[in-house]
Amino acid sequence: MKAHRAMLIKLPKDKCNVNYIRRLMALTNLAYHDFETWEPDIPRTIQHHLYEFKSYKNSLVFGVAPKKWFAEVWVPLKTLRIYGDGFMKGDKHAPVVLDFKNNVIKLRQVCRSEPGFVVEVPMPKWVVDRIKEGGDVKYAMIGLRDDEPYLALVAEREVEPYQPSGYILVIDVNSWRYGIAWGLVKNGKLITWKTEKPDTFLINTLCYQTVDRERKVGKLKRLGYSSSAKVDEIKEQAHTRKSRIYRITRDKAYFLASKLVKKALKYKASLVIDDMTEESRRELLEERLPSDVIKLLMSNLKRFVHQLETLAQWYGVPYEFRRLPSTVCPVCQSELTQEEGRIMICENCGFKAPRDKIPIHWATKLHKLEDDRH
Ligand SMILES: [Zn+2]
Repeated sequence: MKAHRAMLIKLPKDKCNVNYIRRLMALTNLAYHDFETWEPDIPRTIQHHLYEFKSYKNSLVFGVAPKKWFAEVWVPLKTLRIYGDGFMKGDKHAPVVLDFKNNVIKLRQVCRSEPGFVVEVPMPKWVVDRIKEGGDVKYAMIGLRDDEPYLALVAEREVEPYQPSGYILVIDVNSWRYGIAWGLVKNGKLITWKTEKPDTFLINTLCYQTVDRERKVGKLKRLGYSSSAKVDEIKEQAHTRKSRIYRITRDKAYFLASKLVKKALKYKASLVIDDMTEESRRELLEERLPSDVIKLLMSNLKRFVHQLETLAQWYGVPYEFRRLPSTVCPVCQSELTQEEGRIMICENCGFKAPRDKIPIHWATKLHKLEDDRH
């Protein structure tokens, strides 16, 4: 199985002609739709290079990738890899040269329409790490995001998922308010369990401060002060808080995905991912939270699930998505009643547990049933 990971590198804007890159993106878009146009002022080598990619049109290489920033048509580029021992791999005339000897990436003629124009950027540690893990960077892409030039590198690795050792790692994805719960299960027994979340108090405070400021802006606008310095100031304050929530949850998403995949690797566990984000959104709605707060509390959870899946594929961790109940008793299957502090109680058999632990109890139970059957 082929696994992929991607990263973005910001290119020096002063060395790039943004309009040229935009034109290359437009040409790529045309090529994608089966049109071939030859532009007299764009180097032939680059245009040849572009149309060579047509045979890969429906592959990741041509930019139909799961990542958001591939939605616009980025320009696919071949790479030449020069390793420390002088060994070379790839197309000698490739526009992107990954030089591990000198630790630089060279971009030839894709930043400016000038013959022989080269832009050099330092080799990111990310690339070196992926190569050490047995990956290869065959393809790159250049493109614009918010008018800034970027280089996207796509690492590829051939990997087979390992045979799980009997451990399973259950991951239950909620909102940031309730966090991400995980449990390590072996032979139908729950070994450890934990809920992970960012500083919830801070997130909640920032959420309410944001909403409060947005309300104030609305009020001032209704009173006819839509373009005053005061309004701008409050708007800025709201924006700063939103960005902070976004950064905190994004960092937590990447940190947790990496931590959990490492844990799975350590125990040779298989991953069971219960993506309950939609259910969590409904739960927050039922609590009558304002929709902006809900949006902030849900931000970057999709990124977390995506990163979890990407890393699991890359390291060969077997995984599956599985819906696990959170309101049904794992002992007698009666409907559970929710009490103060998100404690779930079964009125039929007396079972009692925190709400976030119920899916993990279910996973344990199902795992035991599957074990017994074998
Ligand atoms: Zn029960």
